[in-house]
Amino acid sequence: MTTINMLINGEAVQAQSGATFTRSNPLDGKVATTAPAASVQDAVIAVDAAAAAFPAWAATSPGERRALLLKAAHALEAKAAEFTAAMAAEIGASGLWAGFNVHLAADMLVEAASLTTQINGQVIPSNVPGSLAMATRQAAGVVLGMAPWNAPVILGVRAVAVPLACGNTVVLKGSELCPATHGLIIQALQEAGLPKGVVNFVTNAPADAAEVVEAMIAHPAVRRVNFTGSTHVGRIIATKCATHLKASVLELGGKAPLLVLDDADLDAAVNGAAFGAFANSGQICMSTERIVVDAKVADAFVSKLAAKAQSLPLGDPRQGPVVLGSVVDMRTVHRVNELIDDALAKGAKLVCGGKAENTLMPATLLDHVTRDMRIYSEETFAPVKAIVRVDGEEAAIACANDNAFGLSAAVFTADTARGWRVAQRIESGICHVNGPTVHDEAQMPFGGVKASGWGRFGGQAGIEAFTDLRWITLQTAPRHYPF
Ligand code: NAD
Repeated sequence: MTTINMLINGEAVQAQSGATFTRSNPLDGKVATTAPAASVQDAVIAVDAAAAAFPAWAATSPGERRALLLKAAHALEAKAAEFTAAMAAEIGASGLWAGFNVHLAADMLVEAASLTTQINGQVIPSNVPGSLAMATRQAAGVVLGMAPWNAPVILGVRAVAVPLACGNTVVLKGSELCPATHGLIIQALQEAGLPKGVVNFVTNAPADAAEVVEAMIAHPAVRRVNFTGSTHVGRIIATKCATHLKASVLELGGKAPLLVLDDADLDAAVNGAAFGAFANSGQICMSTERIVVDAKVADAFVSKLAAKAQSLPLGDPRQGPVVLGSVVDMRTVHRVNELIDDALAKGAKLVCGGKAENTLMPATLLDHVTRDMRIYSEETFAPVKAIVRVDGEEAAIACANDNAFGLSAAVFTADTARGWRVAQRIESGICHVNGPTVHDEAQMPFGGVKASGWGRFGGQAGIEAFTDLRWITLQTAPRHYPF
């Protein structure tokens, strides 16, 4: 069992009240982590610390911030084994997924380091004689970042890396389901030597989330909020941000469609679908949730995909390498078992897998899914996936867009020009032609449309999200006034 601290103003601290909460392993129920249960007062002190550290951090040179972020990337990579153990203990994740998390998260810190010298402005021609007019980007202030448990290293780092690169100070609110994993990120940033107060870390008991989060959003020093999590909580965050007039980046749920057109290379489509559907047991916002396949090739495609799905190793990740580890909790198992029952009662066909009795859920495919079944529109966030058969390209596009979400999508076709045309018509922030729906790189503009949220994290888009664009003029000649 691990006991962790929060980080406020460079000090490892417990909650002032001494309150704690625990996170248990999803497979054996044993306590994995004990973490501080912050109160509103603790959270406000964390934001105060970030506010006090802001002027000096915003004034550091890009080179200083770049060097510290690069050190942080190395410190993070050096903790790969600790991350793997923490992710297996807290969320039941496979070693494969933990390794990918650490690799991409380190790359996000390297990319953020490189962005420090790319925070560019503009000189704009002014109509006023002698006026040198500039658009410049400046750090915004304190950034509140909130990250979920499912890709904990990637999303925890993403919540703070570009904000820090831009000269903001940050408060990371860890997930109640993986406080130790998020705490390791904070340790890596500390080891890199970031000045005290620049990074702060708050953990809270699940029951206190609403008031702790609102207190931080309401704090006048918080100038940006970023949240990665469910659409349900994202709406609450958006409402609070509206009340307090805070700009936000919201990365929410998904129901990614993968289209298999009639001319697709079926082996390539099967590999892309299996990876997108079953990586991290389907618990990725970009997970392939709906496999939309042209009826002409459906029989051949489904039998190949079923064979691949059935071959994927499933088990306790603490015992050895697996592709499918544990899902995060029994609530997921019950919720998804209900989706399976609902689909089967309405005429879907179980191709492989099926209902689970514990958190080791098998790769499951339901064929002949139709619009009246809940799994057609609801995010499973589990290794249970819907196959929808359609007639032709137009029906495939209509099916892809027949959903509230719009994060990622994929199209498989032998004709890349056709793929491009179809990709342009899919309502999603991200779409890959002949690639899986699960694909993330630090420098890409990551984000969704519709109920998947707004704002983008990577590259230049991240700079725009976490800086203020200001208009500053220098009057270099006498100014004419009308009176
Ligand atoms: P969640 O929304 O249930 O929880 C996220 C956080 O919200 C929790 O840590 C909790 O502290 C906080 N919270 C809960 N109630 C609150 C309230 N009333 N007010 C303020 N805060 C509150 O999400 P989760 O289960 O941790 O993550 C899974 C979801 O995240 C899935 O829907 C998934 O698709 C989505 N996700 C999106 C992305 C993306 O980049 N778009 C990435 C990963 C996950």
